[in-house]
Amino acid sequence: MRVILNPKHEAHAPPGEIENGLLIPCYECPARLTVIRTALETAGGHTFEEPPVCSEDAIATIHDPAYITYLRETAAEIRRARGSTPKVQFPTVFPYGPNPRAGGNRALRGRFCFDTYTPILGATFAAALGGASASLHAAELVAAGTARQVYVLTRPPGHHAERDRCGGYCYFNHAALVAERLSKLGRVAILDIDVHHGNGAQHLFYERGDVLTVSVHGDPAGLYPFFSGYADETGTGAGLGANVNLLLQPGTGVKEYRPALFAALDAVRTFAPAFLVLPFGADTHEADPIGGFKLPTPFFREMGAAVRELGLPTVTTQEGGYNLDVIGPCIAEFLKGFE
Ligand SMILES: [Zn+2]
Repeated sequence: MRVILNPKHEAHAPPGEIENGLLIPCYECPARLTVIRTALETAGGHTFEEPPVCSEDAIATIHDPAYITYLRETAAEIRRARGSTPKVQFPTVFPYGPNPRAGGNRALRGRFCFDTYTPILGATFAAALGGASASLHAAELVAAGTARQVYVLTRPPGHHAERDRCGGYCYFNHAALVAERLSKLGRVAILDIDVHHGNGAQHLFYERGDVLTVSVHGDPAGLYPFFSGYADETGTGAGLGANVNLLLQPGTGVKEYRPALFAALDAVRTFAPAFLVLPFGADTHEADPIGGFKLPTPFFREMGAAVRELGLPTVTTQEGGYNLDVIGPCIAEFLKGFE
């Protein structure tokens, strides 16, 4: 498999994330990428390459230019900070009232972010740009027919990022960037198999009939991102019927997951896309610290083989997965089944 790396991820290493008012160690850390790369090198059969840097205009195909500017300028401001000024910015107040106005930095932090898990550091913009660059390079390879399957090995992840908000450790939405690019050539299906709902792609393509969004995830009544991902969210306007959410309960094992995956694959087949984008999360694994599902490592090969049956040119983007001992084997097994 051709693997496109984010060369700028490492310096984005938040000092923690805020959970229930407390700063706790980050689940989303640089070692995630390292252990996955090591597992793929051990498995063999993969080539690794770095992408050219993409333009901000290319990211603005799905993200608000004001949001892109905010991330760039905030990271630059943090790098310039001296003395006791914190080297990280967390939002503390979010928009409220009928006509919220965001005039200064403290308001913008809440304007452009929807949770307390996704801080901005001096290196955050470069890391996010690196992930977008890797994703768009993968899209170009598939668009040109140079490669039929490409895996984007990147962090921070992307699938929770919305048009003008970061959240869920995500800043730019890699899967959506790829889907938007490939949609110029034909219909695209996004199949999100992270344990968390792919809210970013759902909302970005909710009114479009040329991009199908399917997500298999834990019931948002009890799992992040809480506010979306329900079964009755089916799209609107031209996009009516082009959004499918398949919910599973905490403790989901192979017996429950397999039929949901098959239903998702059926939805993709019915849509008859020219391309597939696959946001992949290993946080469905039984040993993941935050997912709550019970999938064993060998099942990931079966998942890969099931997706391969679609026979579509595919870009897979690395999303979640937070147990450093298992995420490498999970993606290695998945790609083994997929190739
Ligand atoms: Zn996740």
